[in-house]
Amino acid sequence: MINFYDLTQQDLASYLAEKYSYPSYRAKQIFNWVYKKQITDFEAMTNLPALDRASLAGEIFFQQPKVKDLQTSQDGTVKYLFEVVSGPQIETVLIEQPERKTLCVSSQYGCGMGCKFCQTGTMGFLANLKAADIVGQVLAVKGKAVRCVDVFQNLVFMGMGEPLHNYKGVVNALRILCDPDGLAIAPKRITVSSVGLVSAIKKFAKEDLGVNLAVSLNATSDRVREKIMPINKAFNIETLLAALEDFPQSGRKKITIEYVMLAEVNDRDSDLRRLPKLLKKLNCRINLIPYNANTGLDFKPPSRDKVYRWQKELSGKGYDTSVRWSKGKDIDAACGQLATNQKLVNAK
Ligand code: SF4
Repeated sequence: MINFYDLTQQDLASYLAEKYSYPSYRAKQIFNWVYKKQITDFEAMTNLPALDRASLAGEIFFQQPKVKDLQTSQDGTVKYLFEVVSGPQIETVLIEQPERKTLCVSSQYGCGMGCKFCQTGTMGFLANLKAADIVGQVLAVKGKAVRCVDVFQNLVFMGMGEPLHNYKGVVNALRILCDPDGLAIAPKRITVSSVGLVSAIKKFAKEDLGVNLAVSLNATSDRVREKIMPINKAFNIETLLAALEDFPQSGRKKITIEYVMLAEVNDRDSDLRRLPKLLKKLNCRINLIPYNANTGLDFKPPSRDKVYRWQKELSGKGYDTSVRWSKGKDIDAACGQLATNQKLVNAK
């Protein structure tokens, strides 16, 4: 049996061609029934050959993650706790902002990248989510709305996990999310955020997806980055920036350089001097993320004055620089706070 939500339209077309000798438009018809009309009963798909509907129902099932809990923050941010198809529980956050809503999805259960300032990192890597688990987070939040854009305007892969460490699951999910017959989300509204897994970034650069890329830099020297992000031992700052300089930009937003500001670790004046020099060859924007002190880890946030000074100086040097103040702190939904306690049921 196959979970429908794991299939890209191409996967479904190949399956139907092999088993039923169907032309490719049948996959398009089924995608439209499911993603546009929200019909998941093959018997109700009246433009399919009547004789095949029962056998399709015996081969393809429709299973999405279940919402186990839902919490709303004072600032309007909503955190969903999902039990995914393969068993574990993961978190998804719908972030309320003045002019838009952003949905932040998880791509793994736990994370093996071990960034020292991140609560998810303390869980370690437990499992990759399947495409169905990722698509299912989006479907659940979309609910009965006709279009995703009516519920959220941006979608970011910044929840639990390193998306490019779950390459197949994430790329397949992106194909379904962006498919005009699928969830029809414009690629320019989607951002995949990576810790800086250079080998996967190079591969991702060759995909025809057109989604945006964000990368966590978080330091201006290898010495500091290695201390807070073990990935730097495999791919140092120079290697990472060289890969980003080669990343194709046509049709996408500028690459976002994320910088989690940790007091007295990576927020010194010398860092502020080095950062624009490091980025001078890169067409990028900078997102400063003041560390959220509520995670119980051994770091402190920078002062607000310092954050605004960095923003002003970097903007003055020509970088489009924004500050991401954490949302949903009171429900542990802020950046770096996502972690679930449930033990893995079906670890791979
Ligand atoms: Fe993993 Fe991202 Fe947390 Fe690093 S910051 S441990 S990559 S979830």
